[in-house]
Amino acid sequence: MENRKPVLGFIGLGVMGNPISSRFLAAGYPVIGYDVSPSAMDSFSAAGGQGAESALEVANSASIVFTSLPSIAVFRQVIAGAGGLIDGSAVKVVVDLSTVGGTATMEVAGALQGRNIELVDAPVSGGAAGARAGTLAVMIAGSTEAVERVMPILQILGKTFRVGDQAGHGQLMKLLNNMLSSTALAVTAEAYVAGTRAGLDPQTMMDVFNAGSGRNNATSDKFPKHVLPGTFDFGFPISSVCKDIGLAIEECQAFGVPMWLGGQARQIWQAAATQGGATDDLTSIVNIMERWSSDRE
Ligand code: NAD
Repeated sequence: MENRKPVLGFIGLGVMGNPISSRFLAAGYPVIGYDVSPSAMDSFSAAGGQGAESALEVANSASIVFTSLPSIAVFRQVIAGAGGLIDGSAVKVVVDLSTVGGTATMEVAGALQGRNIELVDAPVSGGAAGARAGTLAVMIAGSTEAVERVMPILQILGKTFRVGDQAGHGQLMKLLNNMLSSTALAVTAEAYVAGTRAGLDPQTMMDVFNAGSGRNNATSDKFPKHVLPGTFDFGFPISSVCKDIGLAIEECQAFGVPMWLGGQARQIWQAAATQGGATDDLTSIVNIMERWSSDRE
């Protein structure tokens, strides 16, 4: 039978964009993609994707274009800047999977609306492993018509949650989630360093936390898979933790909430970044916490 699935566009084929676009390809969607990194383009082509020369070429070829971009500046430029998706002749819906915050998302959604292009705000949680396995949590906000159009495609990625009608609500949900997970990771690192210095066995500590009330995503996933084996390879740099927790605090403070605990966690992550850890994997916070701990008598 003829393949009637539409061609999808994809911009940003990195740690998340690579496995996500691969899932679309595996589900039978033709995908045309672009990334500034030649190695990202090579991996995409090897998975069966069609390479484009620019974001604009993608937007001239596909009516639905996904983005998974590293920063707010790149997000603004790629979608609404000169020669960006906004100038494309084919694109009707942009589905943004990045974490860039509500302010930039609403601004870009407004610019797109002026050209009759809809933005579906759809940040994801679950990391590269979740993207590969199709177990991401996808937080979706946008108009009913646009969301209904892309929902069957987003369902390929994992569990979908419609969190609002307005682009920006997905971002807020995602920032709240990341503030919880990064705060839990920082405090788990503190507990881990204290426990191991006192002579507790690392594996036993995780087993007890996970059977007890201290269980969180760091104890159940990040420590067993990326800290205890000494690989520190979850796939998310400390600089990006700072980006997300900074956005979370700013957006939450706008609602009048003091954000005392979140603010404290933000300072810990910023200190880690400014002391040489910015490009290190977020699970390296445990090594930085060890360095911060004073020598004992
Ligand atoms: P990444 O840096 O690995 O991927 C981003 C890609 O965008 C890179 O391949 C880069 O070359 C490309 N890029 C940069 N500028 C570009 C441009 N002008 N045009 C086209 N491509 C360009 O980042 P990532 O980890 O895949 O994260 C992407 C987004 O997803 C971020 O907003 C991040 O916060 C979010 N996110 C990441 C994770 C994770 O675990 N890594 C989980 C959930 C959400």
